[in-house]
Amino acid sequence: MSNIDAYRRRFLLGAGIASVATVAPGLVLRQVNAKPADEAVTDQKRWGMLIDVDKLPNGGQGVVDACKAEHGWGHEEHSNAEQKTQWVRTVKVTEKLTKHEFKLPVMCQHCETAPCADVCPTGASFKRVDGIVLVNKHICIGCRYCMMACPYKARSLVHEAIFDQKPDTPRGKGTVEACTLCVHKIDAGEQPACVASSNGAIVFGDLKDESSEISKQLKARGGKQIRADLGLNTGVRYQGI
Ligand code: SF4
Ligand code: SF4
Repeated sequence: MSNIDAYRRRFLLGAGIASVATVAPGLVLRQVNAKPADEAVTDQKRWGMLIDVDKLPNGGQGVVDACKAEHGWGHEEHSNAEQKTQWVRTVKVTEKLTKHEFKLPVMCQHCETAPCADVCPTGASFKRVDGIVLVNKHICIGCRYCMMACPYKARSLVHEAIFDQKPDTPRGKGTVEACTLCVHKIDAGEQPACVASSNGAIVFGDLKDESSEISKQLKARGGKQIRADLGLNTGVRYQGI
């Protein structure tokens, strides 16, 4: 089976080995039970992330670095800097009146009502029933409607030929891409790469499970959406903004 075939199988069905993430001996961050490879994705779960920007050094540059390392983007030669691939970026915000400044990492917010999927003419942009918003590279025609529709500037078009791709992250010139929430890891029962590298600043889990750590933290401390006024009910929430 080729790498692409192996990816597509995991992409559609999910692969299943349960795992536990530890950051130090005896300290378990969370556990995600992987589903068997032949079990369909279920809407009984909705995956999300809660990002505490106060706990992220350098405005979340580590998130960007972890994402690049996991998915292999950001090393392409670009003739135009404005066309750089950008799955996640750090954004500086200055409050007009108080001049209070903070930085936050911004990636695809995995919207419940995803404008990118609504406008896609081929169905390449789609939302899985567990809330993960993805692009099917095999039917993306590179029209970039989704990039225009996304209010978070979360998507990029690959302008250059791609070499040395990661087996779990197939990429292609002329197709659109964005944060996948590390779906290949989630389906294998692991955490997204940026979460694993965040020293607890990002909590990942099932927003529909009241007993999950992310649900407990959201209930206790709340979590803001960027541009909540748009009513997109994002799967990515923030504390400290
Ligand atoms: S953040 Fe943008 S790319 Fe992600 S689901 Fe929302 S509209 Fe789509
Ligand atoms: S969840 Fe994965 S793809 Fe999304 S920003 Fe984090 S590392 Fe990148």
